[in-house]
Amino acid sequence: MEWLQDNPKVRMRDPAGVAKKIHKLIQDGPQKLQVVTDYDHTLARSHYQGRPVGTSYCVFEADESVSEDYQTEAARLKKKYLPIEFDPNLSEEEKIPHMIQWYAESFDIILSSGINENQLPAMVQRADLHLRCRTPECFEFLNQQKVPILVYSAGLGNIIELSLKQQNAMKGNVTIIANFLVYKPDGTPLKFASDSVLHSYNKNASHPMTRDYYSSEKLQQRNNAILIGDSLGDASMTDGAPCLKPPPAGHSTVLRIGFLNRNFDASLKRYLDAFDIVLVDDQTMDVPLELFRRTCCDAISSQT
Ligand SMILES: [Mg+2]
Repeated sequence: MEWLQDNPKVRMRDPAGVAKKIHKLIQDGPQKLQVVTDYDHTLARSHYQGRPVGTSYCVFEADESVSEDYQTEAARLKKKYLPIEFDPNLSEEEKIPHMIQWYAESFDIILSSGINENQLPAMVQRADLHLRCRTPECFEFLNQQKVPILVYSAGLGNIIELSLKQQNAMKGNVTIIANFLVYKPDGTPLKFASDSVLHSYNKNASHPMTRDYYSSEKLQQRNNAILIGDSLGDASMTDGAPCLKPPPAGHSTVLRIGFLNRNFDASLKRYLDAFDIVLVDDQTMDVPLELFRRTCCDAISSQT
């Protein structure tokens, strides 16, 4: 545990409880493990070379090939709703109606933007969606260990997939569940794939989009999870997963890691309540990677 406690970015409310969870993950090993992670400001950094990194939706806003009308409207929506999403003084219930409204208005302008599917790869290439240091290494390691990764995001699935592919992190063990756009044969946007929008506060394992994933055979025996997110809502990403029932109903262990990217002093207490390990302004995947290694490799050495 020294490796964790000595890391200056790490905060924990209950270090003994965290040690217990890590011990259980190591005992059960990689065969029992699954990883569930958010994308925006979690796999993707929150800042890079002194500049804030946008979200998967911002790719459209920041690109020179997109109409000025779209950019103006998207900036207006962001200015209105982003402070609400991160307001530490508002409850989840108070935020939800605003979030739904934000998504509805954003989807409308995306669909009417006319941005062609063929434009997306170059747009993602030009965008600033830099992954946290060592993200491809994490994904490669988990792929070797045959540990499934769910990238569960309220962001734009098409952009996330391209971003992971372009940065060498889209391995065979990765599934993305997010808001995906469906395109017409000529490449213009047709609709969003699902009628039920995923937003920051309904992103749990009871959402209909997750049904097929959690009922798939490869997940059945995987009763432990490492969850990684950056919004308070991310802490409940695995809630309702049939294979991840916590005691007393089941024997699952879910270790929650939260990246705290902003409002450090005002938000720390809530993050400590929601996540087992809070990483304060850490732009790397060092801690998750070390946890993956210990869970997978210490389990093997403890069996031999
Ligand atoms: Mg996020």
